[in-house]
Amino acid sequence: SYRKGGYHAVRIGDSFAGGRYIAQKKLGWGQFSIVWLAYDTQTSKYVALKIQKSAPQFGQAALHEIEILSAIAAGDNANTKCVVNLVDHFKHAGPNGQHLCMVLEFLGDSLLRLIKYNRYKGLEFNKVREICKCILTSLDYLHRELGLIHTDLKPENILLYSTINPSKDPIRSGMTPILEKPEGNPNGVVTINTIEKKLKQRARRAVARISERRASMGGVGLMPKPARSLDGIDVRCKVVDFGNACWADKPMAEEIQTRQYRAPEVILQSGYSFPADMWSFACTAFELATGEMMFTPKTGQGFSEDEDHLALMMEVLGKMPRKIATCGARCKDYFDRYGDLKRIRRLKYLPLDRLLVEKFKFSGDDAREFADFLCPILDFEPEKRPTAQQCLQHPWLNMNKQKNDETKIESRVGKLNI
Ligand code: ADP
Ligand code: MG
Repeated sequence: SYRKGGYHAVRIGDSFAGGRYIAQKKLGWGQFSIVWLAYDTQTSKYVALKIQKSAPQFGQAALHEIEILSAIAAGDNANTKCVVNLVDHFKHAGPNGQHLCMVLEFLGDSLLRLIKYNRYKGLEFNKVREICKCILTSLDYLHRELGLIHTDLKPENILLYSTINPSKDPIRSGMTPILEKPEGNPNGVVTINTIEKKLKQRARRAVARISERRASMGGVGLMPKPARSLDGIDVRCKVVDFGNACWADKPMAEEIQTRQYRAPEVILQSGYSFPADMWSFACTAFELATGEMMFTPKTGQGFSEDEDHLALMMEVLGKMPRKIATCGARCKDYFDRYGDLKRIRRLKYLPLDRLLVEKFKFSGDDAREFADFLCPILDFEPEKRPTAQQCLQHPWLNMNKQKNDETKIESRVGKLNI
């Protein structure tokens, strides 16, 4: 994909926007772009540089994303809404064409990585609560204040950031900027290997230097080492990847969302809006707490992935109301007129609270409380799902189960009249 119309090949030390940004390290990539850590020489901060592929359709997509990110940044001057902030954007001419580039505030590892590093066991409830509050804060902002649907909410698109902000304090976060192209090997060829080796040495030294301090200050695992545990850390995160976001009054694609996080109304093509994001949010919250995806549909003998997905939903959430099972453009493909699936007849019902106890070994109380939070958000009728604003009021989010914090719990519980 590093050819005409495709990705722009970047090397460590490459400069962008007339020398303002210096490439440091590749952070990740998506279908449309590669993302590099860059040093902003003007502000002396680290930033994430998202470099779009150059073909016209990717340029169009980037313009759309820039429009949306600009609206998001314009309404979030204080940077408190848990969404990634756009710092700058520009065009960059390379051998593969013109690339639109977005400069974003630099964030840490994704929640997907965090789940992996917790060995798919699920995070402790207090962390899940903190993360849920951040996601809901961002959704409330996007939905209610901007009229935007994210359409691709999932752990991969939610990034951690530390209270020690690496963009402001690179030394403490373990990084020193590279301002020039590193020297080449004796043959005069700059290879990524030699550079990587140097970088690794440098990172190792920096990590050793800061590990003690970081432990005492409780920084979230940012680069170069991802988080293994978040013990005693104030967890914050931000929603990223607005490449597929759309204005609620101008829905774009018919099929939105990543499979496992896709809402029933999207599968049935009965129209979607903000509640589709709420569905993805609930799937994400479940995954954070259990370490496993809520729904992992597969094609089977005589049925499609969509049908398996609908069956999995009904096994946990009960039968789909007839109204929902009969009104979407795709309903007739999957349901008979009684609202039963045509090709998957025998469902094994296991309600969410029992699933949490039997499969994930939650205590009865934990399971009931968590299910009480999630089930309304997983209503098959999108109009019945609570909004992000309503979810933020749910008592589950404000329960604090720390034993050394009992007085606080009492006063909070008192206020909520439970
Ligand atoms: P795409 O739209 O091509 O999927 P994303 O915006 O999802 O691109 O970015 C791709 C990857 O780059 C992400 O999964 C993440 O690993 C990394 N990334 C994106 N934005 C940031 C950021 N602000 N800070 C740090 N890493 C980022
Ligand atoms: Mg992405």
